[in-house]
Amino acid sequence: MHITSDIHLHSNLSSCAKPEATPAAIIKACRDQGIRSIGFADHLWDKTMPGASKWYQPQDVEHVLSIKKTLAGEECQELSRGLKILVGCETEFLGGKQVGISREAAGLFDFVLIPPDHFHMKNYVFPADVNAPEDIKTIMIRRFMEVMDLELATAVVHPFHAMGFTPEMPYVVQSLISDNEYRECFIAAKQARCAIELHAGVAKPHEAGSGEDKFSPECIRMMTIARECGCSFSIGSDAHSPEPIIAGVYKRMERFADCCGITEAHILQL
Ligand SMILES: [Zn+2]
Ligand SMILES: [Zn+2]
Repeated sequence: MHITSDIHLHSNLSSCAKPEATPAAIIKACRDQGIRSIGFADHLWDKTMPGASKWYQPQDVEHVLSIKKTLAGEECQELSRGLKILVGCETEFLGGKQVGISREAAGLFDFVLIPPDHFHMKNYVFPADVNAPEDIKTIMIRRFMEVMDLELATAVVHPFHAMGFTPEMPYVVQSLISDNEYRECFIAAKQARCAIELHAGVAKPHEAGSGEDKFSPECIRMMTIARECGCSFSIGSDAHSPEPIIAGVYKRMERFADCCGITEAHILQL
């Protein structure tokens, strides 16, 4: 597998990104790694939708789309020659129909990423008093299916990764999800024409992993089932600075994709 696209890149318009994550620096880092299709996806909550948290309030449509001005500048134009540059967003999902982007606003972006599992945002995205892996799993599967019902997401990002607990929790929760439960979710994604993100996080080394790369067997199982279900995949380094890109994050992701039988043919073309 050879990765030539990444549609989950944060610029310094995202409050949580590093100041050095200028669009130019991100484009340059990607370009040097052979990425030809570069999609910015800054955090977004559309003002016309109720429910923005304090953190999301300033990160509205106007703010996220302001990247276009920078991209039109001389430096970015020069760096992006021969590349495809896309402007998308990573919005928020609170469950049910509560999503941070209207259908109208979604039309202003090249793509929309929806995270079903930003569970670190306690008492906003996720109830603070739920800590048991079984309970987290139940909510996680429900949220995934609800995202599919929205029919808004180009891709669902970092799927089934329980954030905001112990570092081991995502894997514990994944181990509780049966093959059949995954299949139901991924078939729904295929039907909703929603891509599954191949996120940098799945290619992280894990103590249960074998071989040199020590990929998590749980992550391999999940993404292999997604591939078997006929899903398409988007690539997401989720970089918040040029650093992980320069450090070679795509190489690990390529080897991880190989372990799951995911090839260039499975990648969403935008
Ligand atoms: Zn995210
Ligand atoms: Zn992100």
